[in-house]
Amino acid sequence: MIAAVLLDMGGVLIGLENARGLPDSRFDWRGRQALLALIRARGGKVRAAQLDRLLFEPWQAEYERRYELGREANWKPHLTRLRRRAGVRLHDVTLLGAWFRPYGEALGALDGALETLSWLRRRGLALAVVSNVPMPGALYRKILDRHGLAASIDSFHFSYDEGSRKPSPVMVRHALAALGVDASQALMVGDRRDSDVAAARAAGVAAVWLRRPDGGGPAPDHTIDELAELPALVRRLGGGGRKRR
Ligand SMILES: [Mg+2]
Repeated sequence: MIAAVLLDMGGVLIGLENARGLPDSRFDWRGRQALLALIRARGGKVRAAQLDRLLFEPWQAEYERRYELGREANWKPHLTRLRRRAGVRLHDVTLLGAWFRPYGEALGALDGALETLSWLRRRGLALAVVSNVPMPGALYRKILDRHGLAASIDSFHFSYDEGSRKPSPVMVRHALAALGVDASQALMVGDRRDSDVAAARAAGVAAVWLRRPDGGGPAPDHTIDELAELPALVRRLGGGGRKRR
């Protein structure tokens, strides 16, 4: 009996436009302008050319090692360096949010996401997001909020905040504990076999692969081609019997 569904975010609920889930090209440029403007508005001083050396390059060096580290790269020491150099007192999420916002605001919900979450919720299933993200989860949570997706979710698990990333089963286990369900009562849905399916299997949770080009990985228990196929699968597996609100 399926009582809970854990969902990956990027490529399943939200289209992230690039594999990193970070501002790229024109969004990176606009974000940097916004970050510099914020620092200037607080009386700080930093040049555009310094952002790379103070913030982005040292972060990138650790980001490259995220697979071997099993966690996301930490922005904190680099933001501290930027704050000191610029002479401003701004919170980490405020600084990162300024850079992230133009990108975040351009992202949209994927087809079937809202309807599928609403259906699962109405049928009494507990829902969690289990997502690898390179920045504080609050920034991505805002995107889910803006598109009405967060309202259906009972528990959020973002790798940056949890100190562990898929394919480790740690976040999956945290989600199961938060929802109060056993691994045998849950499904994990994701679009990458090497992270989503691998993490689900390592936690003993049945994996549903939303089939997308992903470079391979362990075999999923179930495969769907569109998220809108999930309700029928859940029904077949004997989940979602109870109606609520
Ligand atoms: Mg994904």
